[in-house]
Formats: sequence, C-alpha cells, structure tokens
Amino acid sequence: MKKLLVTGGAGFIGTNFVYYWLDKYPGDRVIILDALTYAGNRQNLVRAEKNSKFEFVHGNILDQELVETLLEKYDIDTIVHFAAESHVDRSITGPDEFINTNIIGTHSMLKAARRIWLDKKPKEHRFHHISTDEVYGTLTSSDPPFSETTPYAPNSPYAASKAASDHLVRAYHETYGLEVTTSNCSNNYGPYQFPEKFIPLMITNILNNRPIPVYGDGKQIRDWLYVDDHNRGVDLILDKGKIGETYNIGGNNEQCNLAIVNLVCPIMDQMFDAFPELARRYPNAPPSTGRPSATLIIHVEDRAGHDRRYAINADKIFSALGYEPKVSFEQGIRRTVQWYIDWEHWWKKLI
Ligand code: NAD
Repeated sequence: MKKLLVTGGAGFIGTNFVYYWLDKYPGDRVIILDALTYAGNRQNLVRAEKNSKFEFVHGNILDQELVETLLEKYDIDTIVHFAAESHVDRSITGPDEFINTNIIGTHSMLKAARRIWLDKKPKEHRFHHISTDEVYGTLTSSDPPFSETTPYAPNSPYAASKAASDHLVRAYHETYGLEVTTSNCSNNYGPYQFPEKFIPLMITNILNNRPIPVYGDGKQIRDWLYVDDHNRGVDLILDKGKIGETYNIGGNNEQCNLAIVNLVCPIMDQMFDAFPELARRYPNAPPSTGRPSATLIIHVEDRAGHDRRYAINADKIFSALGYEPKVSFEQGIRRTVQWYIDWEHWWKKLI
C-alpha cells in the first residue's frame, strides 16, 4: 500500500492521475497539495473527495514547512510532483511565476523530501518528477527524435524552468541520495484540460462560434499522447523504474497543428449530424448553420521562439518497462470531444 503526495492534483494531468490511481489502487492513500492557481480547479476532484482514502490540501509547494508537515502527518512514501506553471504563452508574457513555481517550488519540494526522508526519519521513498519534452529544444524535419541523452536546449521560459527543475532533481539524487525518477512526456490531451490549450480551445471555440487561431503556417509538429497513457507510464516508472533514471514518455504520434485542426473539425461536424440536440444547445456553432467547423480557422502571428518540431524516442520505457500507449489519436480525440460536449458546465466558467 502506497501513501502518495500528489502536487498539482487539481490541474489537468494531476486530476486524471488521481482518478487513474484511486480506480486502480483502491487501497492506497492519495493526498493532494495544490495552490489552486487559475489552472487548478477543486471541482475536478468532487468525485475523489467522496473517497475516504483521498484528501485535498490547499497550499503552495513553496511552503517547505507545510510539505514537511504533510510528509510526516500522512507518512508519505511517494511524491508525484506535477505542480507547475505549464502554459508556454504565459511564460513569454510573465516568466517570473514560472521561475518561482517550477524552479524554486521544485527545490522547496526536494528540500522537504530530503529533510524528512533522509535526515529525520529515513525510510524507503520515491520522488517522481513530472517533466516535459520541451526541455530538449527543437528539431528539424530530418533530426532523430529526442532520447533521454539528447542535450537540453530549452527555448521558452517555461521549458527553461522545467529544465532547471529536472537538473535539481538529478542533483538531489547524485548529491544526497534522494530516490528520484523523472519522466519527460510529450503533449498531453484529454478531459479537464484548461481551455487555453490547443485542443480544448479548438473544441470550445467551435461550440461558441469563435475563430480557431492557428499559429503561423500551422506546420509546427508535436508528439501527442492521451493523458491516461501518460499516467500509465508514470505508474510503470513508480513500480519498476530504476532510481536516478529519466524516462521519456511518448505516443509515437507526431502531428502538425494543421493536421489536428483538420481531424477535430470534421469530428465536430459529425457530432452535430449525429446528435441534433447539439444544434439546439449551440445554435451559432458553424455546423448548426450548415457550415463546416473548418470555416473558423484563422492563421495568427507565430509565437515568439516557437519550436518547430518535437518528436520523442520512448524506446527506453518501451523496452525496459514494457510500456505501450493504448489510445489511438483518433480514439483519444473523439473521447476528448465527447467530454467537452458533456462537461460544458465545467469549461463555461473558464472561458
Ligand atoms: P496545469 O497547468 O493544468 O496544472 C498545474 C496545477 O499545479 C494546477 O492545479 C495548479 O493549481 C497547480 N499549481 C501551480 N502552481 C502551484 C504551486 N506553487 N503550488 C501548488 N500547486 C501549484 O498543468 P498540467 O498540464 O496538468 O501539467 C502538469 C505537469 O505535467 C507540469 O509539471 C507540466 O510541466 C507537465 N507536463 C505537461 C504536459 C502537457 O501537455 N500538459 C506535457 C508534459 C509535461
């Protein structure tokens, strides 16, 4: 039986992780620490709050004393550290919050873990750090995908702050012997993603008859992974990953932004065809007025320093831990579209 402290558990991936974990390991204790920034939403966890094994703590990862108290009070043996500022565009307009949370906040978590797990009451433990493929920088169309040994070359303040936090996690293992693992995952999508991010923005803008903004030529390539597939990878690393190691998690699913728009728009049109009540709920959405959703696409000025291509070589987790993504891109997009249609009450307040 594990006792987990999950930071950022009221955000997109953290929420999905909490449900994944409580469903799969009903005997485990799951404590959330979340500051409820604009990206955190306690409503996400309403169903989890009914579970006696679950507890929500409203607090900041920068509060080292609080983290130490939680580690002791709940006898935590596993930290899964999701909490971060996560939106690249926001890091360009206001990098300070990214430095505070992603770098200083991660360091505060590491200091607390070191003090309680190594100095005060030594015990078997694991600090799993959630990171991103953005730390590796950008690729040309002919470069091989990022592997765990690709040198870090972050280009945005977000990526740089995550890179710095990865280095601190590594250093706490090498210097103090903290038992850490890190995963660098590609772009996630799925339920509970804040509607500022590309895929939910597209879906909610179609429902609201708003333009679908595509940066520059729309040929920027990312690897995309359904959020539960990311969380299954984290589960495997916690179970079988080697202490001190880093694992890339990816979907072998490179897609350019335009290809995604061209997948989502017809799926939205089909949904309106299949469910006539959608036209009553969203009378202004293009498919309700006989127009394809794709008529909303507009090209906007490209993001500063926009990385051209990310691709991830996840062979290590495939071969060492037997990982495999389960949800195909089309299947995952259909599930996600359905979720945003069913959960209008959730996103309506956020846009
Ligand atoms: P998110 O922005 O949806 O959620 C972040 C959560 O962290 C929120 O609940 C927020 O309230 C909380 N938080 C922020 N600052 C905090 C602080 N100082 N103290 C406590 N809680 C705080 O992010 P996400 O998309 O779920 O990403 C989670 C993690 O996964 C991040 O570390 C991110 O870098 C990483 N990641 C994300 C993706 C992706 O595609 N979303 C891909 C790879 C890695």
